[in-house]
Amino acid sequence: MRTITWLILVLAIAAAIYWFGFYEPQSVSTEVVSDVMVSAPAPAALGQVDDARVTGAAADDGNWLTHGRTFDEQRFSPLTQINRETISGLGLAWFRDMGTNRTQEATPIVVDGVMFFSSSWSRVYAMSADNGEMIWSFDPKVAGEWGRRTCCDVVNRGVAVYQGKVYVGALDGRLIALDANSGEQLWTVDTIIDRSRDYSVTGAPRVANGKVFIGNGGAEYGVRGYVSAYDADSGELLWRFFTVPGDPSQPFEHPEMELAAKTWSGSQWWEFGGGGTVWNSIVYDPEFDQVYLGTGNGSPWSREIRSPGGGDNLFLASIVAVDASSGRMNWYYQEVPGENWDYTATQDMALADMDVDGVMRKVLLQAPKNGFFYVLDRADGTLLRAHPFATVNWASHVDLQTGRPVLNPELDYLEKARWVLPGPLGAHNWQAMSVDVEAGLVYLPTQDIPFLYTMPQDWQKTGLYQRRKGQWNLGVELQRVAARIVENFDSAPASRGYLKAFDPLSGEARWTVELPHYWNGGVLASRGGLVFQGDAQGYLSAYDKDTGEVLWQFNTYTSILAAPVTYSVNGVQYLAILTGTGGGDLFGPGGIDAGETLASGKYGNFGRMLVFKLGGTEQLPPPALRDRSIPEQLLTAVADEDLASGERLYFGHCAVCHGFAVRAAGAGLPDLRQMSPGTHETFAAIVLGGTRKSGGMDSFADVLTAEQAEQIHNYIKARAFEDREQLLGNKETGRLTWQQD
Ligand code: CA
Repeated sequence: MRTITWLILVLAIAAAIYWFGFYEPQSVSTEVVSDVMVSAPAPAALGQVDDARVTGAAADDGNWLTHGRTFDEQRFSPLTQINRETISGLGLAWFRDMGTNRTQEATPIVVDGVMFFSSSWSRVYAMSADNGEMIWSFDPKVAGEWGRRTCCDVVNRGVAVYQGKVYVGALDGRLIALDANSGEQLWTVDTIIDRSRDYSVTGAPRVANGKVFIGNGGAEYGVRGYVSAYDADSGELLWRFFTVPGDPSQPFEHPEMELAAKTWSGSQWWEFGGGGTVWNSIVYDPEFDQVYLGTGNGSPWSREIRSPGGGDNLFLASIVAVDASSGRMNWYYQEVPGENWDYTATQDMALADMDVDGVMRKVLLQAPKNGFFYVLDRADGTLLRAHPFATVNWASHVDLQTGRPVLNPELDYLEKARWVLPGPLGAHNWQAMSVDVEAGLVYLPTQDIPFLYTMPQDWQKTGLYQRRKGQWNLGVELQRVAARIVENFDSAPASRGYLKAFDPLSGEARWTVELPHYWNGGVLASRGGLVFQGDAQGYLSAYDKDTGEVLWQFNTYTSILAAPVTYSVNGVQYLAILTGTGGGDLFGPGGIDAGETLASGKYGNFGRMLVFKLGGTEQLPPPALRDRSIPEQLLTAVADEDLASGERLYFGHCAVCHGFAVRAAGAGLPDLRQMSPGTHETFAAIVLGGTRKSGGMDSFADVLTAEQAEQIHNYIKARAFEDREQLLGNKETGRLTWQQD
C-alpha cells in the first residue's frame, strides 16, 4: 500500500511580505483578435470550391483547398519557388497575434488569395493570404465551461470551404455554416445526440459530394462515437454511422451494429460509453464515393473493465469505409482488437496509387498511435503492410495473414503496472504527415513516449466501475502513475521525438532527425525538395527531403504543433503556420521546469499566424523570458490523510489540464505552483464559485465540497513547496515520498 509522508511546514509569512513579482501564469485570454471589419479588397465571391475543383487540385498548385490540400490528403505541394536553392532567402512576410495563449492546431484553407482558418474556442478568420488583412472573423461564442469538457484544450483543427460556405465544428458540438464572403452565420445544427454526456468537437469537417461529414471527441469522459453526414447546403441530417454498439435492449440503429455488438461482453459498456470517437480523420475518396472514418480508443481505456471477458470491441481503433451516399459500411479493418491502451486510429489518413509487389493498388496510408504503419487496399480493406515506424513493445508484429497484432504477453498490465511503448500520446498523434508518392516516402513526426499502465487501485474489490459525469473515466490509474513518474523521473524510460522519412512498403527510414523534445508539429513537403516542420523549441525548420539536412530555421520563440501549408498569390509562394503548443501533452513525464525544454515555457505560448515568403523582412517582437520561479508557499498544518485526499482529488479533477503532480506542461494553461497570493485567497471562489468560467475554468461545485477544494488547495501548495525546495537545492526538506506497492 502506498503511504505519503509529508514534512509539514507552517510558514507564518503574511501575504503582504511576498516580495515575489506576483507573476500570474499567462492569463487565459478570451479576446477576439478583431471585430468584423472589411478592409482588404476582396474578390466578388469567396470560397468557390466544388468537387470538380478539388478533384483537380493536384494541378491547382497555388491553392490549399481541403484539410490535406486535395481529396488524397497527401499534404504535398507542387510549388517550387521556395526550394533548396532559394530557401536561405525565406523570411517573415506578415504575422497576426491571435489574442490567445491556448493551443493552435488548425490547417488553414487557402482559396484564390484568401485564407480561412480556425483558432482556439472554434473562432474562424478570413484574411488576405498575401498580407494578413482581416476580411472577417466569426466567434461562435462557445461557453467558457466547455474548457472543462475536453481532453486536450479548447482546440480546433480547421474549417472546410465549399460552394461559398465555410464550415466549422464548434467545441460545444454545433456544426456551423458561414457565408464565405461575410462570415455571417447561414445555419447551425446540433451534432450531439446526448447532451448528458461530455461530447466535444475539435476536428475539421470534410465536405464532398454535397455533404459535410463530422465526428466528435469525448472518449476519455465516457461517450459513444459516431459520424454524421449533413446536406452541405441546408444542414439537413442525411445519415449517421455509429462506431460502437449502444444499449442492447434497444433496436440496432443500423445493421453494422448487430455485427459489432457480438464483439462486446459484460453488462455495462453502453453505460460507460464504449468510445470509438472519430475526432480527427475523415477522408473522402471520390474513386469509390466512400468516406474513411478513423475511430478512436475504447471508453474506458482498460478492456477488462469495459468489456470483461474479452472481445474485439468493434469498431474501436479501426478504419471504417462507409458509402458516402447511403452511410452503409463497405468494409472495415480493425488495427487494435480489444483496444486497451488509448490506441486510436484517428490519425490522419492519406490516399495514393502505389505499386505494391508489382501491382498498382489504390491504397490508404495511416500511421496511428499504436506504432505500426498501415497500408490498406482501398477497394476492400485488404492489409498490405504494417511495419513499425517507432519503438513498439505492446505487440511483436502484425500478422499479415490474420491482420491482427501479436501481443506481448509480458506487458499485460492487469496484475502489475507495466511500461508500454507507445503510451497514450501515441507513436504518432494528430500532427499531420506528408506523403511523397514520387519518392515512395512519408515524412512523419514520430515519438517514443512510454507510459506506465496500471489498473485503478482496488478496482476488483470496490465493485463495479462507475462512470463519473464531468470527469475523465479512463479505467486506469493516473495518480499512482504520475507519482511514480515524478518520483522516479531519472529512471523512467526517456521520451524522444523524431522526424522520419519513412518508406511504408519496406518499413525502413530513409533518414531520421532526432528532435530535442518529443512533442512537435505537423509536416509539409513540397516539390521544391523541402520538408517543413515546427518544433517544441520554437524553430520552424526546412529539411532537405532527400537527406534530412537542415537547410533553414526560423525562431518563432514559441512551441509549435500545427502543420504548415504553402500556396501562392500573384505568383508569389507563401508558407503559413500557426504557433502555440498544448493539446494532449499531459502524459509525458514532464520535468520540474517546462521552460527548460519548451520555447512556450521559456517565453510564452503565443497563438500566432506566421506567413513567410522569399525576401520577407517582417520581424517578431523580441521575446522576454517568462518568470518561472515558484513563490514561497504559505503552508498550513494538514493531516496526512487530508493531503492524500487532496492529491487523489487533484488527479481526478485538475491534472488533465494543469499537469501531473501540478507540473504544468508548458503550454497556455496556468501552472498552479505559481499562483499569486491573490489567487490563493480566491481559490475557493475560482474552483467552486466559477469566477474564471469565461476563460475555461468552470466551477467544480457539482463534484467537490468546500472541504475537498481545500484539500486540493493544500496539496497544490505542498507540491509547489516541494518543487521550490528542489529548485533551490534543498532536496532533503519536505520530501514527498511514495512507497510503491
Ligand atoms: Ca483518447
